[in-house]
Amino acid sequence: MSDDVESGTQTDKKNPHNICIWNPKEDCGDCSLCEEIHCEMHRSDTMMFMASALMFFVPAIGGMLIGGMGLWLVGYFVYWFIFFELWENKVLCSHCPFYAEDGGQGHTLHCYANYGLYKTWPYDPKPMSRSHKIQFLVALTIFTGYPIPFLILSVQLVFLGATLIGICVWMAVLKLKICPKCLNFSCPLNSVPKAIVDAFLKRNPVMRKAWEECGYQLG
Ligand code: SF4
Ligand code: SF4
Repeated sequence: MSDDVESGTQTDKKNPHNICIWNPKEDCGDCSLCEEIHCEMHRSDTMMFMASALMFFVPAIGGMLIGGMGLWLVGYFVYWFIFFELWENKVLCSHCPFYAEDGGQGHTLHCYANYGLYKTWPYDPKPMSRSHKIQFLVALTIFTGYPIPFLILSVQLVFLGATLIGICVWMAVLKLKICPKCLNFSCPLNSVPKAIVDAFLKRNPVMRKAWEECGYQLG
């Protein structure tokens, strides 16, 4: 690892916050955290995440269409835009190391879950605040729950059952496969052990300073 990276003074147009995942791989030196957390984007994670999400979207959207509730899908897709580009983008993703590439604003995300989304906000190295955590959980509940009343009202019970199973599968994949390795450590769903979080913060002085200013203490 170079002295620049160690001291956190490296400023580079592509990586102004000196987040290690955006530095050249040679700078990782003997760090083996990539075996514990998702330092890199792997297509297999994206496929797993998308496939499990489709198990929820397909019956939810299909049931609404077959039940004659297609017009309400417009509202759902408007909410998707608000959720992905404004709300989740701000309260969750803007705190994620994946968001820090190119300073965090004006370019697209290159992560396994939201690949290609426009980064609407500046990168924020601080952990998510309590308000951001609550907002994220509310936004996620609306995101998953929106189709359910329409499936009940149109008596699409098979699609309703399939949607509920799909949500459970998606959440299980998230909690068992994604959250235990995700770099967005302050997300309320994240379950990376504190020792790993601390080791990552020690490699990332800008994040560490921002976290410590918010009261976080390394173990
Ligand atoms: S945590 Fe950072 S330094 Fe360590 S392997 Fe991952 S990208 Fe490299
Ligand atoms: S990994 Fe998750 S939290 Fe991080 S930018 Fe991608 S979707 Fe957002």
